[in-house]
Amino acid sequence: MGTQGLDRVEIAGQFRFGQGCVHLFMADLMQQDRGSALATFEFWDQMVQAASPIGDRAVAKRADRIAVRHGMNKVAPGGAKGKRAGMAQALVIGGGPAGLMAAEELAAAGHAVLVAEAKPSLARKFLMAGKSGLNLTKDEPFETLLSSYSEAADWLRPMIAEFDAADVQTWAQGLGQELFTGSTGRVFPKVMKASPLLRAWLERLDAAGVQFRTRWRWLGWDDGQAIFDTPDGRQGFNADVTVLALGGASWARLGSDGAWAPLLRDKGVALSPFAPANSAISVDWSPHMQPHFGAALKSVRWMAGELESRGEAVISATGLEGGGLYSLTPALRAGADLFVDLVPDVTASDLQNRLAAKSSKTTVSQWLKKSLKLPPQKIALFHEMSKRYATPKGQETNALKQLPIFGAGLRPLDEAISTSGGVPRAAMDDGLMLTACPGVFCAGEMLDWEAPTGGYLLTACLATGRWAGRNAAAWLDRTA
Ligand SMILES: Cc1cc2nc3c(=O)[nH]c(=O)nc-3n(C[C@H](O)[C@H](O)[C@H](O)COP(=O)(O)OP(=O)(O)OC[C@H]3O[C@@H](n4cnc5c(N)ncnc54)[C@H](O)[C@@H]3O)c2cc1C
Repeated sequence: MGTQGLDRVEIAGQFRFGQGCVHLFMADLMQQDRGSALATFEFWDQMVQAASPIGDRAVAKRADRIAVRHGMNKVAPGGAKGKRAGMAQALVIGGGPAGLMAAEELAAAGHAVLVAEAKPSLARKFLMAGKSGLNLTKDEPFETLLSSYSEAADWLRPMIAEFDAADVQTWAQGLGQELFTGSTGRVFPKVMKASPLLRAWLERLDAAGVQFRTRWRWLGWDDGQAIFDTPDGRQGFNADVTVLALGGASWARLGSDGAWAPLLRDKGVALSPFAPANSAISVDWSPHMQPHFGAALKSVRWMAGELESRGEAVISATGLEGGGLYSLTPALRAGADLFVDLVPDVTASDLQNRLAAKSSKTTVSQWLKKSLKLPPQKIALFHEMSKRYATPKGQETNALKQLPIFGAGLRPLDEAISTSGGVPRAAMDDGLMLTACPGVFCAGEMLDWEAPTGGYLLTACLATGRWAGRNAAAWLDRTA
């Protein structure tokens, strides 16, 4: 499968939002002869790389239209190419990391595999994860890693034991990625993006005979057939085994829209409701905070209920966002208030002594800046919140150590990095097969587990994808 993509890479390198029409038109022309999985994903990836972190819907739509015209949906409609007599037909629905992992396992077991994906190209959320560096896993002891999955840890234990942080690294290296481990143990590809890894992975899957259909949206089953809405109309597909890897319910524009939930409910699968996990916070700022939008709050401690985090956050126009806050989502979801310690490395008594030594002519702002050396954004946040409850004079130290973030709420579900809810453990057997639908397995973020950011999400998506793929292959062997 040739990529021949350099010309488009150069063009997309020049592409910037607001002035990209000419470049997109040229990219469109150069796309004419390409109809491979790689061509569509590479093109869309270039758009992702060019996008601002919040994306640009108009450009993404245009990229979709271009990719669609040259997509993979025209390859061998109605049946998988290359399926030899006697081979079982496996169907994987959802072309994200969990689905691709399941597909690889099924192909390795000698089955014909077709991956059906609703979007015009594969693994869009994975590519978006690459925009922030692609934190693949966390290099830490197994039990520590596992504890990040809280209540789901026991359930996921055998799956992650079979594909743990070391295995994730070996897997990525096997796809040609040089990795590095940050000071906190987070593991990234050195190139800090997902596209080279995905390109190598798709090439390997292609070599293993895996077939792909894009713009195939699964609509449920009819008379035992999986039904898809495709560019050529409604199509049925007969599969001997199916792995669903449909993602969670956030970032719908990348394909993870949770629209599959009613399809499973109709089959009698009791689902847990979706909720934001790893969510940003909304705060209704006064105009005084505007100059600080985009500024990072470093060296802080966030607190909500029983949870604490020392990670950073950024002040945004709509509130606060960043890894430091995401891990508090379960407590905030349960209604806990959010507090921040703006000086976690200074003890309360030291702070009290320093405040007592302040000359009466020095204002609190001057003291915060000169004595505590707080940056402007921390001082602004201190004033923004403390004025909302009129901090009594002399009580500033309490406010600094435990500043309430008034009006903090979770951002909407679709903006969350990941979601909790979905298919619960109780709906499946130990091999991730739905008890209500024999021969149908589930994997990835659509399962009801959650974890903080830090590489835990992809680790569990890959591990459950592999587990579902292996168990689907074993089920085919048992029922053959
Ligand atoms: C901005 C951002 C940054 C992130 N960074 C990281 C990170 O650094 N590290 C980390 O571990 N995680 C990260 N994540 C999370 C990670 O990307 C996801 O957890 C992961 O992609 C989920 O994999 P999945 O295969 O289960 O689902 P998805 O990647 O969501 O894939 C599901 C696929 O199913 C398809 N689909 C859905 N419905 C249908 C249907 N009816 N028919 C056919 N196809 C369908 C979708 O189009 C989609 O392609 C990040 C997420 C975001 C949004």
